[in-house]
Amino acid sequence: LTLKKFSLTELDAMTDAVRSWRILIHGGAGTLARTSFSAERERTYLDALAAAVEAGGRVLSPGGDAVSAVEEAVRYLEDCPLFNAGRGAVVRADGRIAMDASIMDGAGPVPRAGAVAGVCSIRNPVSLARAVMAGSRTSLLHGRDAEDFARDAGLGEEPPEYFLTEQRRRQFEAASAAGKESILDHDGETKFGTVGAVALDMAGNLAAATSTGGLTNSPAGRISDSAQIGAGTFADNATCAVSCTGEGDYFVRATAASRIACRVGANGANIAEAADEVIEKYIGGAGGHGGCIAIAATGDWHFAFNTPGMYRAHLDANGGHGAAIFGEWS
Ligand code: ASP
Repeated sequence: LTLKKFSLTELDAMTDAVRSWRILIHGGAGTLARTSFSAERERTYLDALAAAVEAGGRVLSPGGDAVSAVEEAVRYLEDCPLFNAGRGAVVRADGRIAMDASIMDGAGPVPRAGAVAGVCSIRNPVSLARAVMAGSRTSLLHGRDAEDFARDAGLGEEPPEYFLTEQRRRQFEAASAAGKESILDHDGETKFGTVGAVALDMAGNLAAATSTGGLTNSPAGRISDSAQIGAGTFADNATCAVSCTGEGDYFVRATAASRIACRVGANGANIAEAADEVIEKYIGGAGGHGGCIAIAATGDWHFAFNTPGMYRAHLDANGGHGAAIFGEWS
């Protein structure tokens, strides 16, 4: 038996690699105007984003897995009425709230995924998506049947008034009165969005999750990209983890999240080039707006968006952290 000898520098580098973890989150990208943000208002959102990314970091730092970390961060944002997911979800054209979510575990020879669409009463749709991934023979459940599945799994439910905030009611009434269809949550004066998280855990596993109330005044029955694996959410240990936000139908047509992974895998592109290219060429090039968060298996990470801002935050094992809406980090 021959043992390879390592230098102290090599051992340090190996320990860092084993201990490193990272999480990124988003709270939606949109056409928000910097001038309409008071410093106080901006602080409120930045604090919420920082708290959400820390919720995920608390799972990762003692060695928890990436799937639990993205679920935890997204649950925090679903419970926060500032964002368009769970409590605070936007209102569809039929006057109802219907939520979509998905989650993907990049570990294993074949990554696993779960998604739900059109659920009205489930407090944390991301946890329902995880339960679908874990326990169901299918990967996407819809409407009442998804809610029945949630009940069987013992997941929490809430009445309609829990989800519908006063601000969402006003936003919907303004959109209906103006005859606007399918408006992005961040258009005009209201700027809170879909939520998502991607994480790399200490064991080198990647995961992604996304949750949304969809687009204000969008047609009843519409299913967003956030419920569609490969479009709004994707994770695969061999390449990267991605969560998208924006005008979802462009992301569906582009199969945006998996397209980014294909570029990282097949073309060997780095994560920033891959994400920028897909957002620019396939979303922007088709006339769409939005963005994504992405972490590569290498630990490299990137936020890409073609809107003036994206609610976002990051945190890693070495104490690196930041939250931002526009260009600069705080
Ligand atoms: N992608 C979501 C949808 O199309 C909206 C968003 O990201 O804010 O429903």
